[in-house]
Amino acid sequence: MSLIPKSHPRAKSLYIRERLVKGFDSGLVAKEGLMAHGRGETFDYLLGEKTSKHAQKAIQAAAFALVNATYPVISVNGNVAALCPREIVKLAKVTGAKIEVNLFYANEKRKKNIVKALRKAGAKEVLEINSKSSRRISGLDSARRVVDKNGIYKADVVVVPLEDGDRTIALKKAGKKIITFDLNPLSRTAKTADITIVDNVVRAINRLILECKSKKIRKTQFNNKKNLAACVLEIKKNLSRRMSHA
Ligand code: ATP
Ligand code: MG
Repeated sequence: MSLIPKSHPRAKSLYIRERLVKGFDSGLVAKEGLMAHGRGETFDYLLGEKTSKHAQKAIQAAAFALVNATYPVISVNGNVAALCPREIVKLAKVTGAKIEVNLFYANEKRKKNIVKALRKAGAKEVLEINSKSSRRISGLDSARRVVDKNGIYKADVVVVPLEDGDRTIALKKAGKKIITFDLNPLSRTAKTADITIVDNVVRAINRLILECKSKKIRKTQFNNKKNLAACVLEIKKNLSRRMSHA
């Protein structure tokens, strides 16, 4: 049971933080993952902790790319497994995507825990890179360049929520279309991806699932650079608003 009172002004953010802490205690999340979450929280705060119209636009573009992909794959790390395992399974189901556990800080035990958590959340198949299935992508040091031959290696469209910039750049160079969830519109991942959803993955993933299920899904005009610039402007506006109320 949570000790955070519902009336707390930051309750939602604290509930999300609690999921990360639980994920750390149960061996899903790396210490570094906790800190990466902190960076995300800062941007969430500056964005007003809501889904902006720019994020919604990116979600629509992402849904179109996913449902029209030939071989879509969703990459899952510890933070994602702790935050939204059921939603990952749902997204995979509605888009026909494979799920691959792919960790920045490689660790066998943690990988197994994440696979278990995804299975518990309903996943039938989880790719988990073993000695037989591992393939290398170029442009990264040895530990971080391994992908699964039936997963990311084969994919045309890859969803990499909360991913590191080096990784994203390497995947892009390998010719993948990249969709990411990243609260920081200035990160290298945000700038490198084809479609960046600048929103908390916890909020945005449900909207993406809905869009993918929608019968009205259609191609929309989408320019990632312009969308990121609009998100930065949103932060600027929020800051000015807060300053004038201070
Ligand atoms: P980059 O390597 O892309 O330049 P970085 O080094 O600043 O980014 P990483 O730790 O490599 O950051 O990647 C994690 C990213 O995920 C950060 O940009 C962080 O803001 C973002 N993030 C953390 N938690 C969430 C969340 N719940 N939803 C969406 N994004 C998040
Ligand atoms: Mg990084």
